[in-house]
Amino acid sequence: MTQNAIEITGLRKTYAATGKSAAKDALKGVDLNIKRGSVFGLLGPNGAGKSTLINILAGLVTKTEGTVKIWGFDQDENPRQSRASIGIMPQEPHLDAFFTPRGSLDVQAGLYGVPKSKRKTDEILDFIGLTDKADAYARSLSGGMRRRLLMGKALVHTPHILVLDEPTAGVDIELRNMLWANVRKLNEQGTTIILTTHYLEEAQEMCDEIAIINHGDLIVRDTTANLLGRLDSKTLVVRPATDATLPALPDTITGQIRTDGTLAFSYHTAQTSADQILDILRNADIKIADISTEQSDLEDVFLALTSGR
Ligand code: ADP
Ligand code: MG
Repeated sequence: MTQNAIEITGLRKTYAATGKSAAKDALKGVDLNIKRGSVFGLLGPNGAGKSTLINILAGLVTKTEGTVKIWGFDQDENPRQSRASIGIMPQEPHLDAFFTPRGSLDVQAGLYGVPKSKRKTDEILDFIGLTDKADAYARSLSGGMRRRLLMGKALVHTPHILVLDEPTAGVDIELRNMLWANVRKLNEQGTTIILTTHYLEEAQEMCDEIAIINHGDLIVRDTTANLLGRLDSKTLVVRPATDATLPALPDTITGQIRTDGTLAFSYHTAQTSADQILDILRNADIKIADISTEQSDLEDVFLALTSGR
């Protein structure tokens, strides 16, 4: 039995040309496995193909080529089981204004063939904090409540995998915290989580593994820790009290004399501390007039990886 929640091989999607736009290769042959039990982040700039991939998983968009297995079930060979294994909170919220939250959850459970005796409507309403709005019409719900209801709808059939497409785009801090608290709870209870976001701190905070896609290609896939390891470079900038040359440096530190006479030392925080650099300067008798640090954050690295391609 596979230990993967998702196995994607050679996935391509070409949106057909329309009167207004040329044909678009939204996914250009993506291979991606996602482990069971993980919180997996799919990152990429706007138009990268994230929603296309998610919507193919959800069965909302038909792929052009490739295979997709969800919880071990091939999407084409076992459409029913693969669909039952996954719940999607879509990026574009669509809610029927004529249903109450309770009604929406019931209709959704019906669509997924969950028998009445097995429905967990009250439990879900409580989980998404809508118990007291259970019988209010959807059109009277705030934007935040609608988002929460979308999360609830994705959970009616107790899927093994929950996919959230940009769940926190444009939401306030309070809702964001609630959504993430729910995601953590579900993951602790064993649900595999796949999310897309373009807030990098969010991905850093939530995900154990991250893939970055750009223009329909998967360009990086690694654990968050490794990815941050690549990105943890820091630069210590020292203005010497008198003109100074670069001291001898270990391989782990890159030194540079800048045109303004400052000495810049780049290093990885996992390997080197600022203290070590200061010791080197002290031993080389370099007196320091001023000191500052420059940190490249995830944003920089993300840009470095995705720009100019
Ligand atoms: P992301 O979610 O990463 O922002 P999308 O998957 O929505 O990216 O879009 C990927 C590319 O496919 C974009 O260039 C987008 O314009 C195009 N695209 C998305 N949906 C459609 C569609 N229904 N018809 C034609 N092109 C589409
Ligand atoms: Mg999208």
